Amino acid sequence: MELKITCIPGDGIGPEIVREAKKVLEKVAEIYGHKMLFTDILMGGASIDVHGEPLTKEAVAQAKAADAVLMGSIGGDTTTSPWYRLPPNKRPEAGLLAIRKELNLFANLRPAILYDELSGACPLKEEISRAGFDMMIMRELTGGLYFGERKTVVENGVRKAVDTLTYDENEIRRIAVKGFDIAMKRRKKVTSVDKANVLDSSRLWRRVVEEVAENYPEVTLEHMLVDNCAMQLVKNPAQFDVILTENMFGDILSDEASMVTGSIGMLASASLNDSKFGLYEPSHGSAPDIAGRDIANPIATVLSAAMMLRYSFDLDKEADAVETAVKKVLQDGYRTVDIMSEGCTQVGCSKMGDLLAEKISSLV
Ligand code: NAD
Repeated sequence: MELKITCIPGDGIGPEIVREAKKVLEKVAEIYGHKMLFTDILMGGASIDVHGEPLTKEAVAQAKAADAVLMGSIGGDTTTSPWYRLPPNKRPEAGLLAIRKELNLFANLRPAILYDELSGACPLKEEISRAGFDMMIMRELTGGLYFGERKTVVENGVRKAVDTLTYDENEIRRIAVKGFDIAMKRRKKVTSVDKANVLDSSRLWRRVVEEVAENYPEVTLEHMLVDNCAMQLVKNPAQFDVILTENMFGDILSDEASMVTGSIGMLASASLNDSKFGLYEPSHGSAPDIAGRDIANPIATVLSAAMMLRYSFDLDKEADAVETAVKKVLQDGYRTVDIMSEGCTQVGCSKMGDLLAEKISSLV
């Protein structure tokens, strides 16, 4: 397969972790006979320094011309970096919001996996963490409360703020289809999370999800109220496969799910549009405190690249190889400093990339 991949190294540790993810992808291409064409674009602080703006039209065009986009992370130290003395629409994060909009990315995917080797970092009780977990949170990204009409008014001398939570059936259907498609590639269970005992938008959400489920007879669908889901995530996370939910609930639940893994450097993510196109990036930020020291953990970015292989290119075998390589390198006892524990061998960012690439070679 010939694949055009646009990379956004970004700021801070971004260039270091993207370099390692490319190393792993190049190994996959070599072993499985694909041609990967990489192009880099600037975004965030790196683009401000060169072009005076966080994202140029040319960069957007290059991202759109690709089959998928792989990103590191953008942004600097928000208290000391001169980027944060610029007006909000000129700051690094404005580039990220703009590219998500330009690429029409409405579905956000965040896996939360507890690896046996890292279970010590899980803040849950041992009897819960022992069971492990491997879930995917599918969050609607462009609708709901964050994008509804809002206003602050004064009525009879009293200040009043209004935010509106709106979803139409098309917005719900397209994210539900993505959720069920992803469940078909996993353990075939969808937990749709809402607040249907109170909200009309949730009642419509439930109805539309049930309509979509009719086309996926192999997938088990269950509904769960958001308050219960927040409890179940810490009580019995092993029960979840795909959690499908709207924007604000997903914002909160995906952070909760990632915190129970305990390892920020391991968390991948993807944002998809209604074709196969997606933007893949680690969940963490640009970690300016450790940038340029070759100590960042590249695994979240490598696992994001594995998601790209699986969800944008349907290369499941290749994605499996990358994920297996991560597990085996952890089993071999190699750790970057953020996940280091007694008895393991500490390695830097670049060495971790080498080990992962070598492991992929040894798997075939
Ligand atoms: P952060 O995720 O960058 O860092 C939090 C802590 O985790 C730091 O101590 C950091 O050293 C550590 N850490 C993060 N990733 C790591 C990795 N791969 N390996 C080892 N340690 C790692 O969060 P922050 O400090 O709040 O934000 C820094 C900058 O990143 C800010 O400008 C913020 O706006 C930006 N940010 C960008 C994105 C994005 O690009 N999508 C997301 C979140 C934050």
